[in-house]
Amino acid sequence: MSSLQDRSRAAVWHPCTQMARLAQVPPLPIARGEGPWLIDTDGRRYFDANSSWWVNLFGHSDRPLLDAIKTQLDTLPHVMLAGCTHEPAVRLAERLSARTGGALGHAFFGSDGASAVEIALKQSFHSWKNRGQPAKREFVCLQNSYHGETLGALSVTDVQVFRDAYDPLLMRAHIVPSPDARLANESKALAAMRALLAERHAQIACVIVEPLIQGAAGMVMYSPDYLRGLRAVTREFGVHLIADEIAVGCGRTGSFFAWEQTGADWPDFMLLSKGITGGTMALSLVLTTDEVFETFWSEDVTRGFLHSHSYTGNPLACAAANAVLDRFDAGLLDDTRAQAERLNRALAPLASRVTHLRQRGMILAFDVPDAPPRFAEAFHLKAREHELLIRPIGNTVYLMPPYLIDDAAAAFLAGAVTATLNDVLA
Ligand SMILES: *Cc1c(COP(=O)(O)O)cnc(C)c1O
Repeated sequence: MSSLQDRSRAAVWHPCTQMARLAQVPPLPIARGEGPWLIDTDGRRYFDANSSWWVNLFGHSDRPLLDAIKTQLDTLPHVMLAGCTHEPAVRLAERLSARTGGALGHAFFGSDGASAVEIALKQSFHSWKNRGQPAKREFVCLQNSYHGETLGALSVTDVQVFRDAYDPLLMRAHIVPSPDARLANESKALAAMRALLAERHAQIACVIVEPLIQGAAGMVMYSPDYLRGLRAVTREFGVHLIADEIAVGCGRTGSFFAWEQTGADWPDFMLLSKGITGGTMALSLVLTTDEVFETFWSEDVTRGFLHSHSYTGNPLACAAANAVLDRFDAGLLDDTRAQAERLNRALAPLASRVTHLRQRGMILAFDVPDAPPRFAEAFHLKAREHELLIRPIGNTVYLMPPYLIDDAAAAFLAGAVTATLNDVLA
């Protein structure tokens, strides 16, 4: 096929890819993007049903986003954020703070999701240390959790395929049972968490969770009740709570922060990345409280937070994020609710053929019982023939499309997913 694919195989080490399989699963040679469509070098198009790893909120080549970046590019593409500051970063931090009613009023900038996780884990530990509790250095995560793949983030990740190879290098985190609506185990999972915190709160710094949906586990959904309970037990035992909204933030689940659906107090840390720049620039943020922030306040440099990335608070990325927030300020969530409803109606007929058809906001997933071996790869390849870019996780097929679902797009997705399923199960 395209020589771009051969050159890529030779020179580019692709992520999350067994390179020996690239001959069977050649990377799509993408030339450009337009709305939900990716167009390859031969002019074929593919609907980006997973928003290019969950980042692309408004489709490709979204005009207002590109314009915001171009305007910023002509003024100040980059400046370091130590010793300098700039309007796009300050404005973004202020606007996100306002979205939490000021509860999470201090923003630290990172480069990608994993760096946000590293930052929050370090801040939590250091905050306790500054308060005279250096023994609080253990971390807790949920079974099947995914928080990224750098060593610290991988230590609080429990997806076997990513973790096992590097396990000897990792910090020991506590991994506790996770809630899963399919198992109706939410109160048992919370009881297990409570038992651990009751026993080891003097050693535990924080608990990290993916609110409402464990994405990389295979779109495992659970109710806000669990999170309300988790907020209560972490408060009861004096343990920080980190809400990793890298995947579920930015309107994905129907509210700007998934956490808003709990009605509970805010977590101690909130992480954003992926959608925050709408699939244009790499950026992440760690938002935290006055209470955490104040533990670092001192004339002593070693009590300050010691962390930096070269591109921290990059103005282009912040300008893109501000343009994303403009859309939410203009009432985007009303529209995404209508889009979610369309998706729901269009895919509902699949319920008779699959198990656990489930949805929260703009994430819809189902499981395929008795899936053949290498199901995910086979589905991904077949889907290409139906103009669909999709990557199932195990036997879970999910849609996490850009927020561009009109009736035609919903009908297209339902048709393409059904046709692919027919082919793969034939
Ligand atoms: C993707 C993801 C991360 C890691 O983000 P990267 O930008 O890929 O490093 C962390 N947490 C969650 C919940 C994610 O979905």
